Amino acid sequence: MFKLRNLPFEAEKNAVVSAKTCEYHHGKHHATYVANLNKMTESGEFAGKGLYDIVMNATGGLFNNAAQVYNHDFYWDCIAKISEPSEALKSALAENFADFKAEFIAAATAHFGSGWVWLVCDPATKKLSIVATKNADTPARDGLVPLLVVDVWEHAYYIDVCNARPAYLEKFYAGINWEFVSSAYEWALKEGMGSVKFYIDELHGND
Ligand code: MN
Repeated sequence: MFKLRNLPFEAEKNAVVSAKTCEYHHGKHHATYVANLNKMTESGEFAGKGLYDIVMNATGGLFNNAAQVYNHDFYWDCIAKISEPSEALKSALAENFADFKAEFIAAATAHFGSGWVWLVCDPATKKLSIVATKNADTPARDGLVPLLVVDVWEHAYYIDVCNARPAYLEKFYAGINWEFVSSAYEWALKEGMGSVKFYIDELHGND
């Protein structure tokens, strides 16, 4: 049985999202993905498998629900508290982007429909890039290590700012937990995709 992770912050005190958004986004949307994942793994090829294995190999509805569990797990850590990036990450952002903030926000503003916008590290080249994915898609599936993600499904911001996605994105950017992103970067360099499996196993166990 997979469990819904607890929010890694107090919902009433978060800088990015309101308690009401947490109530629905974590308590209903994220919880439903976990419930569906449990139903879909009661039997069949992926029964008893770990979440990393399912995210990396499942298809269709099972993939969608498994990936949404992981994507949301990761999103909450990205906004758990306001903190500063490491010197290593600051240098990497400066090397890989002319203006990371502008590029990240532009990608998230322009992303049509439901999905996610990520900062990722390619373990083969150590390069950082911004990737936009649709619906449940996750760059982990393409062998890229997620460092940061923003949820741009409407359910992520409609309660707080209605249709004003840019207002949500500004708040998101100001509330990034750079300490978490920096740690993800450090582990991406050391362990590549193994760091993604480690993160998922820490939250959900490995089988
Ligand atoms: Mn969401």
